[in-house]
Amino acid sequence: MKMSITERQPFLTKHFAKLIRENKLVHAYLLSGAEGTGKIELAKWIAKGIFCLNSQNGVPCLKCSECNRIENNNHPDVVAIMPDGLSIKVEQIRYLKSEFNKSGVESDRKVFIIQDAQKMSIGAANSLLKFLEEPSGNITAFLLTSEPQKLLPTIISRCQEVEMQQLTSGQLEQELISEGISEKNSHILANLAQSVVEAKKINDNENFNKILATVNNWYRKLLRKDLLSFVMIQSKIIGLIQNKEDQNLVLQVIILTVRDTVLERFGLTEEIVFKENIDFIQQNTAQIANSKLVNGLNLVVESNRKLASNISMQNMLETLTLNLLDCYFK
Ligand SMILES: [Zn+2]
Repeated sequence: MKMSITERQPFLTKHFAKLIRENKLVHAYLLSGAEGTGKIELAKWIAKGIFCLNSQNGVPCLKCSECNRIENNNHPDVVAIMPDGLSIKVEQIRYLKSEFNKSGVESDRKVFIIQDAQKMSIGAANSLLKFLEEPSGNITAFLLTSEPQKLLPTIISRCQEVEMQQLTSGQLEQELISEGISEKNSHILANLAQSVVEAKKINDNENFNKILATVNNWYRKLLRKDLLSFVMIQSKIIGLIQNKEDQNLVLQVIILTVRDTVLERFGLTEEIVFKENIDFIQQNTAQIANSKLVNGLNLVVESNRKLASNISMQNMLETLTLNLLDCYFK
């Protein structure tokens, strides 16, 4: 089951229910947050709270005809626009205004929602600005964006900014499972990504599963003091890397893999990412001192930083392999 918006944004839904109850909504809100944090769901939830026939203390019932019409984008007083192609055009903002000036609409209470507001053309933004400056009637506007820095400052200054809460890794994991990603990969992805969109992108990487398996194999060899781990960098791992994103992914997977040995040592088994390695880690790290395991993790994190300074990926990973062998076994 996909998480509801009240589960995903418990603080903000409570906050807005209170504003609805006390009739304290302002004219314009800027909802900003990463993809998958529920911006459109929150805006619609608030609209439902306003129009719901059975709302309880500002909380919508989600069942009545008004709630249903809003859910299905079919409510005359709740209008949402989104980019038409790459941008939101001035005609779209004009359409919005004309919708709201129509007579015969059901009440003077109106809500409009602009998705990807950072994609407004300059013309559209200026047209909207006039609208925000002279709000006519009882209008509440929601501008949604994942990139607030791309909005005109004059637009931002007309809105009250609301930052969406990031998903916790547990919530993200549940979302990914509900999107049909395997439980095993959802657990790993929730540790690699901040949002559903980012996680899906990693999952869609054709080499993702190979990277997981190969890094795991590499580290198992390394923990057995096997020098093939060094050879594997060139023969198995480098071939899986096609661009900067892959590079970063390999490094993040290495960090999680090496971190697991530290988590295991300190009894934090709940947080271990690759659970299938637990037995192997116990059997093969028993002789390695705590401080060496921690130093090993530091080596990996440092390598991540070195990559920024122009050293090749292969060179960096080979050096890391030798340094880890030294660190653990000397
Ligand atoms: Zn309702």
